[in-house]
Order: sequence, then structure tokens, then C-alpha cells
Amino acid sequence: MMNVSIIAGGAGFIGCNLLPMLAQEGRQLVILDNLSRGQERYLGSAKSIAHDRIHFFNTDLSDRSATLNVFKWAKGLGFVDEVWHLAANSDIPAGVIDPMVDLKDTFLTTFEILNAMKECDIRSIHFASSSAIYGDLGSTLLHEGIGPLLPISNYGAMKLASEAQISAAAENFLERANIFRFPNVVGTPATHGVILDFINKLYKNDNVLNVLGNGTQQKSYLHVSDLVNALLLIRSKSIKGNVEVVNVGPIDEGITVKSIAEKVVANISPNAQIIYGEGGKGWVGDVPKFTYSTERLQSYGWLPKLNSAQAIERAINEISLELAK
Ligand code: NAD
Repeated sequence: MMNVSIIAGGAGFIGCNLLPMLAQEGRQLVILDNLSRGQERYLGSAKSIAHDRIHFFNTDLSDRSATLNVFKWAKGLGFVDEVWHLAANSDIPAGVIDPMVDLKDTFLTTFEILNAMKECDIRSIHFASSSAIYGDLGSTLLHEGIGPLLPISNYGAMKLASEAQISAAAENFLERANIFRFPNVVGTPATHGVILDFINKLYKNDNVLNVLGNGTQQKSYLHVSDLVNALLLIRSKSIKGNVEVVNVGPIDEGITVKSIAEKVVANISPNAQIIYGEGGKGWVGDVPKFTYSTERLQSYGWLPKLNSAQAIERAINEISLELAK
């Protein structure tokens, strides 16, 4: 019987980088995405590997019966041995303005995926969580055992609630849950993020780049190719118990927004003037600086190929080429 992966939110940025790797394993892939941010054309590289094994459904994952129907259909293809849950609201400021956005797209997606998994007897989930669940702990090293966890954005709150719901499901019916917490991931196709914002601003006005905050925000950036390798590595390992929480990030202190702005300007419009805003935060809910521990990830034998600065450099080139197409 053929193995089947269900990929929720699989038409987005990270999903479409993961899909070709899963397709190469000879699996059937069932992708659910409401295309609020993802695009069907992003499935192209996976389709070029295995056109007849890629099955796309334009489904809102917060809709109980629609989600359950696709999961039931997927069971007809073979043995569904895993669900990748990548669906969420990716616009943190939008969720700060309207908390319903994160309730629906970041939490209810998790809730309904777990419901459908239980109904269909699917026992393994890989969940894309976020460094946002840690909140703003200043210079404290963020490792998986730290607490209490007090997120400062609705997005972070709904990711943490999702982790909690998955944990409860692991007591109930899940055999394996990988909770991956990643910071900022960069690469193409860019659906959101600081590089895309800067490039789009410069395309509108190539004389000036207005930066949110004073540019001192410092964060870790992981290239999507390194991220996907890390996720697949953890998935291939056995874990203690049935829930594993892993920070997935680069092994460095990150780079500043100022440095990213300078790199983007140098690449896109070298004469543009960079104008910084005020304060150390880009927006309400922005965590301006954090130090991320990836010791647990490294204990599985993983090392990134690119550090934060290299990941940013590569992503600027990739995104500017993509937008120029
Ligand atoms: P993305 O926005 O490109 O992908 C998310 C996908 O989910 C999109 O294709 C969107 O259309 C879909 N989606 C949203 N709400 C939906 C709903 N209600 N029903 C069905 N589909 C829905 O974002 P991404 O960068 O690919 O992120 C993937 C996952 O990783 C997300 O859960 C995100 O929160 C998490 N994450 C991303 C980053 C990052 O820097 N990219 C960092 C930490 C965590």
C-alpha cells in the first residue's frame, strides 16, 4: 500500500519547498490550502517530479466538514502515515489588529486537523510552530524547556494554544507529534517577510526605504533549504515519548534589520536613502531581539549550511530574481 502525506497549508512558502522532497520519497501527497496566501502554481516543482501523485484541494482548514471530507478521501489513496500542519496566518500585525484572524487561521486549523486525524485514525503530525510562542524574554537564551511562556502577539498565542492542543491529542490518540519552533525563514517563493517588504517598497519608490522601527531589531534567519533538511532529519529519528519539541534555527546571534535594509538597498537600488522609524520594535507584537538555542536540534546531528547573514544574502538574490520574472 502506498504511503500518503497530508500537507495542510502546503501551497505556501515552506510547503512548496517541502513538497518536492516528499514527492521524491514516492508518496502520494494530498495538499489542502485555501490559497489566502499560497498559490496553486507553487506546486509546480513537486508536480514536475510526480504529477499524478499530487492532489490539491482548495479547502479552508477551519471548516470541519470540508477538512474531514478531504482526509477521508486521502485514506482511499493508501496509508496516511503523517500530516504536516503548515497552515497559519503569516501576517502577525494583521492578527494584532483583528485577533479573529489568528483564532481562525492559526488555531482553528490545528483544532480541525486534529479532529479529522482522530476521525480517520491518523497518528502522526509535524507542526510548524514559531519562536513567537516564547514572547519577549529579552536576552534570555530561548530553549525548549524555558517557561512560563507568555507570547506577546495573537499569532504567538494561537501557536502556543495549538501546541497545547497537540499535546492533549498525544495523550489521547497521537503516536507521534513533532513540534518545530522556527524563527524567521527566508527564501522563495516569498509570500511575506522583511525582505519582500523592503524590495516591494523600493519597487514603488526607488529613492527611499522606510524601515519600521529604528533598525536595531536583531533576529535569527534560516534559509528554507536548511529548514526543510532539519524537519526531515527529525522526522527520520526516533524520539523519547511521543511529543518532541525542537527549536529549528541557525547557530548564530542573528543579524539586525539595519544590516538587512543595507543589503537590500545595495542589491536593488544602491542610491536609495534608508529612513528609520522610532523605537526598537517594528510593530506591536514584534520581538525585537532574541537568542535562540538550537542545542537540541544539533544533538540530532544537524548543522545548517548557511548562517543568518548568508541566508539573508541568498534570499535577497532569490527574491529579487523571482520578482523580476
Ligand atoms: P505561508 O503563508 O506562505 O503558508 C501558509 C499557508 O497556509 C498559505 O499557503 C495559506 O494560504 C494557508 N492558509 C492560511 N490559513 C488557511 C486556512 N484557514 N485554511 C487553509 N489554508 C490556509 O507561510 P509559510 O512561511 O510557508 O509558513 C508555514 C508555517 O510555518 C506557518 O504555520 C507559519 O506560521 C510557520 N512559520 C513560518 C515562519 C517563517 O518565517 N516563514 C516562521 C515561523 C513559523
